Amino acid sequence: MAMNYPAASHGVWTRGAIKVIGGGLAGVEAAYQIARRGQRVILFEMRPEVYTPAHQTPYLSELVCSNSFKSKELTNAHGLLKEELRRLDSIVLRTADETSIPGGKALVVDRERFSKIITEGIEAHPFIEVVRGEIKDIPSGIVIIATGPLTSDGLAEKIREVTGVENLFFFDAISPIVDGNTIDMEKAFFGSRYMEETDDYLNCPLTKEEYDRFYEELIHGERVYFREFEEVPYFEGCLPIEVMATRGRQTLLYGPMKPVGLIDKSTDKEPYAVIQLRRENEAGSMYNIVGFQTKLTYSEQDRIFRLIPALKNGVFLRYGSVHRNTYINSPSVLNNNLQLIDNSRIFFAGQITGVEGYMESTAMGLVAGISVYTSLTGKTFLPPPEDTCIGALLHYITTKKKDFQPMNINFGLLKEYRKKDKAKIVANALESISIWKERIENNAGL
Ligand SMILES: Cc1cc2nc3c(=O)[nH]c(=O)nc-3n(C[C@H](O)[C@H](O)[C@H](O)COP(=O)(O)OP(=O)(O)OC[C@H]3O[C@@H](n4cnc5c(N)ncnc54)[C@H](O)[C@@H]3O)c2cc1C
Repeated sequence: MAMNYPAASHGVWTRGAIKVIGGGLAGVEAAYQIARRGQRVILFEMRPEVYTPAHQTPYLSELVCSNSFKSKELTNAHGLLKEELRRLDSIVLRTADETSIPGGKALVVDRERFSKIITEGIEAHPFIEVVRGEIKDIPSGIVIIATGPLTSDGLAEKIREVTGVENLFFFDAISPIVDGNTIDMEKAFFGSRYMEETDDYLNCPLTKEEYDRFYEELIHGERVYFREFEEVPYFEGCLPIEVMATRGRQTLLYGPMKPVGLIDKSTDKEPYAVIQLRRENEAGSMYNIVGFQTKLTYSEQDRIFRLIPALKNGVFLRYGSVHRNTYINSPSVLNNNLQLIDNSRIFFAGQITGVEGYMESTAMGLVAGISVYTSLTGKTFLPPPEDTCIGALLHYITTKKKDFQPMNINFGLLKEYRKKDKAKIVANALESISIWKERIENNAGL
C-alpha cells in the first residue's frame, strides 16, 4: 500500500506523534531516542511492501552489505565513535554488542539476530508504532526523514521540492582524503595556478617516468564493479580517474593532473604532471585529492596513489568511490540540529545527510532524535562538542564548503587532530561526550 499521507487511524495516542520515515539504522535510532524520553513516535518503513534494490528482509535496521561495524579499538576513529554511541544509550550499538560474534578487532554481528532483536524491541516499545508502507509525500507535523541511500523515487521527488533541485544528489563521486600528517612536505609545494603566493592547493609533482609508471598502474588497477542498480550515468565532470585515463596517456595531463601555471620552487620549473591536494578543514589535517573520484578497490588506491612521491607514506582517511547514493547538500540546507533551514518542522537523519556508513548513519539518527526532542521541550539544541566523533561528523556535514561529498568518521575530522596524540584525543572525546550526555539528560538543551 503506497501512502501519500500516514494513516490517521493507528490509535488515538499517535495524534501529535513525531513521524520518522525509514526504519533503517538511523530511523530506528532516532525513534528510540525520542521514545526513551517519553515522546510518541510513528516509524514508517516501506518494507516488506516495497523493497529497495539492496534490502532483502522485512526487518528494521537491516544491514545491506557487510555484517561488520569495523574496529572496536578506541585508538581507531570507528572504535571511538562506537564507544560514544554506547555511552549515549544507542539501541543500535547496544544490540550490536548483544549479537556480536567473533571478528578479531572488529565488531561483527550475527546479521539476522541483530535486525530481528531491534525489530522486536522497537515494535514492542510502548511509545513507538511501526507502520509499514511506502511514504510518497512528506507528512504533516514534525517529521524526520531517514530513508537512506536508496530512498524511494516518489519521496525523493518531494525531498527535492523542499530542499531545492540543486541540493539533492542521487550518486556520489568521492575523492580520497589523505591524512595531512602523512604527506611528505619536502616533495610537495603550495600554490595555485599562476599564483605561487597562495597556499590554497598543495601540489604533488611527478616526473615523466613517475607519471608513466603511475599511469600504467592506474589503467590496470583492480576496480569495484557496479551492481545493476548502481549503474552510474557518468557525467564529464565526475568521471572516475581511471576511466578518464583510458581515453589516452595524455588526457590526465590536460585534466586533474595538469601542471600548467604551477612552478615547483625546488626546480624553478613546471613539473611534468601535478596532483593537487585541497584542504578539507582549516587545520589541514585532511587533504582531498582533487578530481580523483575512483572505482578502484581500496587496496589498489593504497598501492597506486602511494606511487605519487609526496604520498609515498600517505594514510587515507577516506577512500575514493562512486556510488548510487541519495543525499542532500546538508551544509546548504540544514542547521546544526539537522533541521531544514527553510522548514523548521522537517529534520533529516542518517546517510541521506551526507555521512557514509552504518555507524555514522546511526550517529546522525541519534542526534536527530535528541534534536527533535529538545525542540519539543522549547529549548535550543546543544550540539555535541566538535572534539567528539559525533560532534565532528555533525560539524562536517553542516558547515559550508565547496564541493560537499559524503564523509565517514576519521580522526582528521576531530578538532585539534594535528596538535594532539591519539590517546589525548580519545580521552578528550570521552570526557566531552560524558559532559554532553549529562547536559542533554538534565536539561535537554540550552
Ligand atoms: C549497496 C550498499 C552497500 C553498502 N555497504 C555498506 C557496508 O558494507 N558498510 C557500511 O558501513 N555501510 C554500507 N553501506 C551504507 C549503509 O547502507 C548506510 O550507511 C546505512 O544503512 C544508512 O542507514 P540509514 O538508516 O540512513 O539508511 P537505510 O539503512 O538504508 O534505511 C533506510 C530505510 O528507509 C526505507 N525507505 C526508503 N524509502 C522509503 C519510503 N519512501 N517510505 C518508507 N520507507 C522508506 C528503506 O526501506 C530502509 O529500510 C552500503 C550501502 C549500499 C546502498
